[in-house]
Amino acid sequence: MTPRLFDTHAHLDFPKLRDDLDGVFARAREAGVERIVTIGASDGLESNYRALELARAHDHVGCTAGIHPHDAAMCDDEVYQTIAGEFAELEEVLAIGEIGLDYYYDKAPREVQKAVFRQFLQLSEAVDKPVVIHSRDAEEDTLELLRESGVRRGVLHCFTGSREMAEAALELGFHISFTGIVTFKNGADLLAIARDTPADRIMVETDAPFLAPVPRRGKTNEPAYVAHTAAAIAEARGESLEDFAEQTYQNACEFYGW
Ligand SMILES: [Zn+2]
Ligand SMILES: [Zn+2]
Repeated sequence: MTPRLFDTHAHLDFPKLRDDLDGVFARAREAGVERIVTIGASDGLESNYRALELARAHDHVGCTAGIHPHDAAMCDDEVYQTIAGEFAELEEVLAIGEIGLDYYYDKAPREVQKAVFRQFLQLSEAVDKPVVIHSRDAEEDTLELLRESGVRRGVLHCFTGSREMAEAALELGFHISFTGIVTFKNGADLLAIARDTPADRIMVETDAPFLAPVPRRGKTNEPAYVAHTAAAIAEARGESLEDFAEQTYQNACEFYGW
């Protein structure tokens, strides 16, 4: 039997996937991927509209709404109010995100990233939905803002942080989600963190179209490939793929309230 999988974080609205959506969905189904959350961020406001449209058109797709830290500088009052007013409370919008801090690329000034992150953390409290967090090279500030926000339902997506970061996030009540990076040659440390993450707090994702796992590395990533990531982590944990897939499927349904 093909194990049941949930790709908790993909960008289906990106051209590489959007242009072959039927194929992407067919291959996902074949790989056992029954549910996909497409992230409404990473390209300003337009991405939120496209993600919502995808969720409305496909029963097995849910979406989120937010502004990626890369785009924090364009998140003026009007953009924020649009997301708060037109998206955040919709049934199809399962979480607020991705939001957070990215000090690796520093595409927006750090103070601006922090201000926007704070705003959306408050929004998640206001609408009582979890947050999807992007954090890169910004562990200290991410944890500080999470702590002060009072938000306790969220996921550190595409986790690439330290063991200390993972432990601090788990202690706050957060989930941790892993991508294909755990299958890379230099992913051994991350795989060890995935191995040690409590069973009820771990999720898997593709972050497609980026970060295709081995043996697809270098190709356009797509939801079907989440199976490779799940298999690598299951093996590291000494669990069957079936059990690990089902556990992470249940975790994701509960996390997203779907
Ligand atoms: Zn991200
Ligand atoms: Zn993403």
